[in-house]
Amino acid sequence: MIRTVTTLFLLAAFAMACSKNALSGKSQFTLFKESEMQTMATEQYQQFLSSNKVVPTSSGNKDVDMVRRVGQRITKAVETYYAGKGMSDQLKGFKWEYNLVDSKEVNAWCMPGGKIVVYTGLLPVSQNEAALAVVLGHEVSHALLQHGNQRMSQQLGTQVVGAGLQVAVANKPAETQNAYLSAFGVGSQVGLLLPFSRKQESEADEYGLYFAAMAGYNPEEAINLWKRMERLSNGQKPPEFLSTHPSEGKRIERLQKIMPRALEYYKPIK
Ligand SMILES: [Zn+2]
Repeated sequence: MIRTVTTLFLLAAFAMACSKNALSGKSQFTLFKESEMQTMATEQYQQFLSSNKVVPTSSGNKDVDMVRRVGQRITKAVETYYAGKGMSDQLKGFKWEYNLVDSKEVNAWCMPGGKIVVYTGLLPVSQNEAALAVVLGHEVSHALLQHGNQRMSQQLGTQVVGAGLQVAVANKPAETQNAYLSAFGVGSQVGLLLPFSRKQESEADEYGLYFAAMAGYNPEEAINLWKRMERLSNGQKPPEFLSTHPSEGKRIERLQKIMPRALEYYKPIK
């Protein structure tokens, strides 16, 4: 009897945990409320910024200006797209922030609610604004597609079923925080865009490319970007990078397939 009740409870909890993502229209497994993910992002983001070297905006540093400019154009494109689909309410919890952090890591990430970090180490590889827009489009898409929430839900899974993020934090603060940070690639040393599955990477690549194009950047620059990434990672990819990441060659193939649609969205910045 107890077992039946428990099973029913778990089934009900999992059923509740299946939601539909507004952007992709696909059903997904998320145990946490997006608002909880966003609240946690605000805290974690502040903590990250205060313990890392943020390049100050007031420094007149051209790179900071570029990161902000590209970030703002991407988020404007996202907002316009969502408004056009009548789903602006999905962005209510987003308070976009863009920061450049001084670090050799070739990385960037976006937490729920639009908390973005770009590492200075990415810029020699991105090389131009269009490629940076492709990266930011990709990262922002992970946030919009709730990949961090899905990732954490899978990681923490049954331990927290039906309980919510606050309960998870209260019961297992260190474990939850680690799961949270790793869900967004914070502190990852092994290169760009590590922590997601191939399917999630492809999905973020696709929407990221469209948003970069809508923001006025030539989406074809994505091909050059991934060629540079490939050269960079030659010989130094740790195994987990290989196992979770689409190889850049395949990635380029897939990008080329969706390029015609991306180019339809492309209106160059005047
Ligand atoms: Zn990614």
